[in-house]
Amino acid sequence: MTENTTINENQNIDTDENNIEDTMQTTTLPTTLPTTDPKTPLTHEQIRNFQPVEKCLEGKNILVTGAGDGIGRVVALTYARYGATVLLLGKTLSKLEYVYDEIEGFGGKQPAMLPLNLEGASYTEMQEMANMIKKEVGHLDGILHNAGMLGSLTPLEMYDIDEFEQVMKVNCTAPLMLTQSMFELLKEADNGSVVFTSSSVGSAPRAFWGAYALSKQAVEGMSNIFTQETANTTNLRFNCINPGATRTSMRAQAFPEEKPETLKLPEEIMAGYVCLMADDSIGVRGQVVDLQPK
Ligand code: NAP
Repeated sequence: MTENTTINENQNIDTDENNIEDTMQTTTLPTTLPTTDPKTPLTHEQIRNFQPVEKCLEGKNILVTGAGDGIGRVVALTYARYGATVLLLGKTLSKLEYVYDEIEGFGGKQPAMLPLNLEGASYTEMQEMANMIKKEVGHLDGILHNAGMLGSLTPLEMYDIDEFEQVMKVNCTAPLMLTQSMFELLKEADNGSVVFTSSSVGSAPRAFWGAYALSKQAVEGMSNIFTQETANTTNLRFNCINPGATRTSMRAQAFPEEKPETLKLPEEIMAGYVCLMADDSIGVRGQVVDLQPK
């Protein structure tokens, strides 16, 4: 290694100064980098085992979809506990109200409730929502696209096409529409983070998982494309999270014979969710982070 190591804006370590484009702002650093250097992107293991400090999400406005139940509810509560203002998007208003009361109950920042059925939601409705968010909080630091539906587990040969479109809309098209609608608000943030939710069938398709598996594959591709398209023009980062087998009603629907007590609770996998929204994960881009690798 040469005496000095150069780090460019995109956080790549490069020892050959000839490789650095003239236009790129460079900083000269000592040869030995501390392991905690914030410019070194965290590994998946570090993300899974992240130990958040108190208030690490203070000042951040984060939209969580599917915030009324399952993993999304626990993420919303957790983000609020770490100081974020959470915008709760979900289908069932009474569930959002419950989460709202829980956040108020422990003294979290006052959340907002955004009842919306993603299945039928139009682009206009989402843009109206974006206008409202702009008016109320000004910008968005993050979106966790968590809402999802399982659909039928059945051979593709006989998959009902109406149901196929329903699953694709909720799991894939709506996250795209929502991201498009919120793009300007995300760009207003210093370091915006968009997290899509995948699944193990998102990277390895499995027989009978039909629309669900295809929607998750599409979501992983979408995160990858967004990453490529924005990496050199914005500070926005796009990643996917795969929670792994977690004790929720969707999991029980998919595996009715399984003993729930053998599964992790949503509360046990929160480190990764917090990490990907915290500034500690700046530099983590285009990743699919599996929270429970086998
Ligand atoms: P869940 O308990 O069924 O919760 C799903 C959430 O999504 C609910 O809050 C639900 O709202 C919301 N939602 C569903 N359809 C919606 C729609 N049309 N519009 C708006 N919101 C809608 O599921 P989960 O297990 O927590 O799953 C959360 C995410 O993790 C999903 O993307 C899922 O694919 C993924 N995942 C889960 C597991 C697992 O083992 N649990 C494993 C891999 C990936 P309502 O309650 O109001 O209907």
